[in-house]
Amino acid sequence: MADTPQIADTSPHDWKYISEGGSTIVFSYTGPLHPQFDGTALRLRKGPVSGREHTDTEQYQQPQLAETHDQGEEPDDPTIVFQSAVIERLVPRQFLPRLDAVRVERAWLQQLAHLTEAQRPKERRAKDRIDTGRRKAVLATDLVGGDGWAVEIKPKWGFLPARTHLSDETREIKTRTCRFCMHAHLKSTQGEDVSLGYCPLDLFARDKARVTRALHALWSVWLGSGAAVNNLRVFVQGRKLTPAADVPSLAPLAAQLFPEASHEGGPAHTPDEVRDALTSALLPLLLDTPVLRTLSTLQRTLDALDVEGLTALWARLRPADAAELGEGEADPDVAEWTRFVDTYLSRHPPRPESASASEAQTQTRTRAGPPAEADEDELRYQLQAYLLSASFKDCSVILRMKPGQAVGQGTITVIDLDVKGIDRLAKWAKLDREIVDAYRGIPPRDCVDAWAISA
Ligand SMILES: [Zn+2]
Repeated sequence: MADTPQIADTSPHDWKYISEGGSTIVFSYTGPLHPQFDGTALRLRKGPVSGREHTDTEQYQQPQLAETHDQGEEPDDPTIVFQSAVIERLVPRQFLPRLDAVRVERAWLQQLAHLTEAQRPKERRAKDRIDTGRRKAVLATDLVGGDGWAVEIKPKWGFLPARTHLSDETREIKTRTCRFCMHAHLKSTQGEDVSLGYCPLDLFARDKARVTRALHALWSVWLGSGAAVNNLRVFVQGRKLTPAADVPSLAPLAAQLFPEASHEGGPAHTPDEVRDALTSALLPLLLDTPVLRTLSTLQRTLDALDVEGLTALWARLRPADAAELGEGEADPDVAEWTRFVDTYLSRHPPRPESASASEAQTQTRTRAGPPAEADEDELRYQLQAYLLSASFKDCSVILRMKPGQAVGQGTITVIDLDVKGIDRLAKWAKLDREIVDAYRGIPPRDCVDAWAISA
């Protein structure tokens, strides 16, 4: 289409590196005033560094979602298609970034890569780089650039599984320690940096003491790991802050949180003071927003069977293929995703935010799980539901504060809601067994699910 913006209208020098995830890398526009690019971030796909054998390319492959392929026209990025067809029907638009297609070209991308490569983390540079073969990328609302500060939280799994579909062998373990806490335990035994001590159910609880505990846990892991663990990221004026356990590394954040003190060159604030000011600024927003509750409900209702129940359903209907969950199943296209959301919304009608926990429970309980006479259609529904639940388990929220805004007056936006490929299902089922096996004999953490459906 003629009105798709062209990245070549800007200079690669005008884009500042912000951060990257497993499959994408993000830049913020800092160039001269431009109606199409002011306040935007450029999200580019990455590809594996060539010449490496046995690279795990899984994370670079996105299911294609375009309905039709015009001759010679690269379809819009799957993230854009997925957001408009699926996500915007489940999460209110005010909590989502604007996403538009933008045309890119090889020479421009190569120049940008050349200019910014040195700022990328070393481990990432060894593995991947900007995919310069793409002709389209995503232009998104820039949620961390400009004045002020922002926090990115990857909340992860905000629910405990229902007991119904768990096996006798895992029920006690899985309903007393949440999936994130168990996974953190497994990773820590493997020597990985993890958010030990952070329990997502605290963050999702909408309870002042518990949300505070979650924020403090995220902060201490952030500080202790030098921001290497990705559950918390802090941005000040568009720059990702890398903390060390000293005062100067926190100075840019302290200057935002204690604006009156920073002009004076007064005494520096201790890390604990900065943490407490950050917590006070974020708490009102987290306690007030319906977003986390929405994410938790979506995760819970889409993953109604647990991967164990899903595997059992699969084995019942596909005994021949029972070894590999999802094997041979095609990725849903846009039309199938649209029908899926129709069905999901008819099973779980949106309810007013004010509905009490017990009303929500009744509704969820009567609808949960597959009918006893589950058929092929039901299996397909549950496979898709699990895939979509994974998008909501893996997304991030950005809490953005602008200078001079009153406490609690920031915005909260859900990002990174990408479509997952169906070939991941078997890996998730395997990982689930590893995580539970590693937790056998470990004292339960007794994680509390504030929105649990009482048995
Ligand atoms: Zn937990």
